[in-house]
Amino acid sequence: MSKCLICKNEIESRDEDIFVLKNAPARAQYFLENREVPSKSQINLKLTVCPHCGHVQLDNEPVFYYKDVIRSSSVSEKMKNMRKEEYEKLFSYLDIEKSNKNLIKILEPGCGSGEFLDVLKKLISEKARKNKKYNDVLIYGIEHDIKRVNAARDLNLDVIEGYAEDGIIFKNAPYDAFVQFNFIEHAKDPVDMMRTINHNLKMGGIGLITAPSFEYILENYAYYELIVDHISNFTFDSLSYLLEMTGFKILSRNILNKDTLEFYVKKIATADESYINKFVRNKKTANKKLNMKHIKKIFDLSKSKFDKKLTKYISSIGDRKLYAWGASHQGLTILSTTELKNKVEAVIDSSPAKQDKYTIGSSLKIIDPKTFYKQNNTAVIILAPGFSDEIRRTIEKNIEIC
Ligand SMILES: [Zn+2]
Repeated sequence: MSKCLICKNEIESRDEDIFVLKNAPARAQYFLENREVPSKSQINLKLTVCPHCGHVQLDNEPVFYYKDVIRSSSVSEKMKNMRKEEYEKLFSYLDIEKSNKNLIKILEPGCGSGEFLDVLKKLISEKARKNKKYNDVLIYGIEHDIKRVNAARDLNLDVIEGYAEDGIIFKNAPYDAFVQFNFIEHAKDPVDMMRTINHNLKMGGIGLITAPSFEYILENYAYYELIVDHISNFTFDSLSYLLEMTGFKILSRNILNKDTLEFYVKKIATADESYINKFVRNKKTANKKLNMKHIKKIFDLSKSKFDKKLTKYISSIGDRKLYAWGASHQGLTILSTTELKNKVEAVIDSSPAKQDKYTIGSSLKIIDPKTFYKQNNTAVIILAPGFSDEIRRTIEKNIEIC
């Protein structure tokens, strides 16, 4: 028996109410320093749907580093442009150019090393050249991991060490707006996080929040997107439910880059305990149509189709040495949950932080692309959804694929 992360009602864990992904990686960060038996870094993921509010979640303990924001510090041009477009939309909701406020303060709770705040800072100074009002826009970040706080400060960003929980009021509050990118799905208590953010905002304050889309995972039969780091799996409906429960009105909700939910919200109430309890009493269901029978059917089918394809592929490569490209969370889940871990020589990844370490859940050595290019008689399987074309082109440039 466990408690729903959102509505806090008890969830009975009967077998038929759970999808179990066996031998999943125990986490997606902190790669292994030494080779070890794969099972030592595996866990069984238990996916459930709350029968009361419909929130899809894992009945597993959150990873130990769930308060830290871990994302690549190098932001691609595509990502930068996407963020800029989002910030422009946020500015228009804030009506900055017509605002009569002396200062407009924007907070990013969970800002990592300040990658996205830096994009915001540059956009603001660019806009300030044409419109002085943007000189009044100030930006702040909160990050739990002190190393990342310091990295953000190196970019001259105003970032303090902390985490949005327990209703804590941050320095410089109240803010006019908040932004948060793919962080809420990691939270042990998403309601507490959003309630705390609510308390730090002015009434009428604007928010921009994103999270991975569970609809995308289902529609694409992508069981390999499941990872223990993402303890919540949000849909349009369940993220709406969480945001409305914590005092926000939805201004717009969109799909970003096919796989991400993007919400713009406005604070319309102070989310104290009685507000939240009243909301849960009055609005019982977040996801009307999602049930475990449906989810199980999709993931079972997804997993068995994937396994069959993989067996066929492995038998097609003959005596060539097989490599896998991509120690992303999807790559880790695929390696850990399939026979691939017994067939692959090593995993290729271009991130120096991962190289010379071993994959979680499959204990395969991670090598840099150059080491791979030197090998003869090889085959490579790309495990990086979203980047496969780009990686394929890189490999083709550097090696001849038979
Ligand atoms: Zn619930």
